[in-house]
Amino acid sequence: MTDTEDFLRLWDELAPIGRSADSGGYRRYVLTDEDATLREWFAATAAARGLEVTQDRAGNQWAWWGDPDARPGLVIGSHLDSVPDGGAFDGPLGVVSAFLALDELRARGVRPARPVGVACFADEEGARFGVACGGSRLLTGALEPDRAMGLRDGDGVELGEALSHAGRAPVAADPEALRRVGAFVELHVEQGRGLQDLGLPVAVASEIIPHGRWRLDFRGEANHAGTTRLEDRHDAMLGYAGAVLEARRLAASHGVLATCGKVAVTPGGVNAVPAHVTAWLDARGDEVGAVRAMVAEMEAFVAEHEGEMAQESWTDATRFDDALTARVRDAVRASTGDEVPVLGTGAGHDAGILALAGVPAAMLFVRNPTGVSHSPAEHAEVDDCVAGVHALASVVEELSR
Ligand SMILES: [Zn+2]
Repeated sequence: MTDTEDFLRLWDELAPIGRSADSGGYRRYVLTDEDATLREWFAATAAARGLEVTQDRAGNQWAWWGDPDARPGLVIGSHLDSVPDGGAFDGPLGVVSAFLALDELRARGVRPARPVGVACFADEEGARFGVACGGSRLLTGALEPDRAMGLRDGDGVELGEALSHAGRAPVAADPEALRRVGAFVELHVEQGRGLQDLGLPVAVASEIIPHGRWRLDFRGEANHAGTTRLEDRHDAMLGYAGAVLEARRLAASHGVLATCGKVAVTPGGVNAVPAHVTAWLDARGDEVGAVRAMVAEMEAFVAEHEGEMAQESWTDATRFDDALTARVRDAVRASTGDEVPVLGTGAGHDAGILALAGVPAAMLFVRNPTGVSHSPAEHAEVDDCVAGVHALASVVEELSR
């Protein structure tokens, strides 16, 4: 059985990669040096276990135990990238737990009757190029390769350029790699307080609420902050500021969530009137119609204020596979001896993208004592992480009989 030391041994290998000394948070963005180091770690960790490591045409990494071309496999895993100054657990907990679950099964002499894979999806957070779950969306065809190749980061670098700089081939959909996935179970730190409030370590997911991202652009004219009269200014910041407040007002009136968490100002000088503001809106809610209605009113507001608003991504309400989830839940219950709650989530995940592509998918959540996520304060206790590994191992044993 995996113990605390086993967990920390593997966990600590990842701890220094992409960690900011200033914030204590992680900056692990796609196609950077940190990303390359994480990919090497994944390949080496898989190779040390005798797993066959492959990379699909969308840039996702896979480690296989058994031949998934002979028979589609059961896949576990998650992602290793982060949001800006993200926590340690969002993503890596699922990848580390997947390797440890396989170790646990092997130590117990379990021989799965179907191939078992560990996946590491590329660019789940979309922190650099703006599209969340980029790797899984490309894999399934939900993101057009041409559109992906033209996405730009904050410095204007196109994804295609970044790929060739990293010595990587252009990205593409990969139906052959997708066909190898018979089912996917993603373990993830909970991004809320559901388990903490219930006093339980592990839950299964029911669904992901609909969510999307939009880019807002406001144009103005750069000029001197000290010599340009107020009435002569064309200040791009004013349209943006109004939009932030309007998004909050509309979200409250439609009963949805709206966040403006990223903004870029040109020229970006304290003493210069802003010539251009680009910002991003994240909107989510329980009801597709309510989110869409909020976004439609937001679009009207932005247009009235000489701005433009363009959708960058959209994911419908995603219901995880009920039959698979029931089996996962039974296996976890047998493993932990605890009740296993079923929780919905407001966060998007690669498991949701695969579910939308028709792959039976399910998720496990591990307790997060504060519920804080996408922040250096994100946390899970080691004992709960170990309970998650046991639960995942039981799930793999049950689903690969
Ligand atoms: Zn995640």
